[in-house]
Amino acid sequence: MEESAEPHGISQALRQIEAQIARYADRYGRPEGSVRLLAVSKTKPLSAVREALTAGQTWFGENQLQDALGKIEGLGDSKAVWHFIGPVQSNKTRPISEHFAWCHSLDRLKIAERLSSQRPQDLEPLQVCIQVNIDGEATKAGIAPGELDRFADEVAALPRLELRGLMAIPRPSQSLAEQREPHRRLRELLEGLNARGHTLDTLSAGMTDDMEAAIAEGATIVRIGTAIFGARNR
Ligand SMILES: *Cc1c(COP(=O)(O)O)cnc(C)c1O
Repeated sequence: MEESAEPHGISQALRQIEAQIARYADRYGRPEGSVRLLAVSKTKPLSAVREALTAGQTWFGENQLQDALGKIEGLGDSKAVWHFIGPVQSNKTRPISEHFAWCHSLDRLKIAERLSSQRPQDLEPLQVCIQVNIDGEATKAGIAPGELDRFADEVAALPRLELRGLMAIPRPSQSLAEQREPHRRLRELLEGLNARGHTLDTLSAGMTDDMEAAIAEGATIVRIGTAIFGARNR
């Protein structure tokens, strides 16, 4: 009897991605363990998250609140740590502040203020990254690089948020050299903030197609969906 490959697909993919992360980290002189894997489970069923959890993956990324809440509630008590990585609407800030440990996609002060004031007192501060529109694309979310200093100061002052770093989704490009360019600029923005007195330790950068470029330029969290869970239905 032939065994189906499917039940082992996700755990195998996770092992492969972790090995690839370690290889790239080594290749680019990054310290061991300095790049963390965020498994982007958006659109995927609860069973896929369960399978990844069983394989030892604990960080999960979601970009749509309803989809995420179904899985968070379905899972109940578990080791899963939830990261919100999508656009935050102001009427969704409360459940995000209640159910997530991280939000990677801050780009409006009003949203940041709501998340801070709604963060439950019995939870540690919400860990946040500022999303930067690194290629200045009209259709993309994120703060313009020129507005970053001021926005970072405002976010860092909010009591129930802990500003950890920056996130970006660069415009797709083909070669490794081209892919590195926006990630390099993101790293330089982070270094600029730290030179001004911030103590940020997080670059949330790199997806399935540009993971190597992001690691080469200092990513500390890579957000990987397709390579773990397979292609998404549109
Ligand atoms: C979907 C998504 C990802 C994962 O993309 P893949 O190409 O499937 O790895 C990463 N980050 C954000 C913000 C996303 O929305």
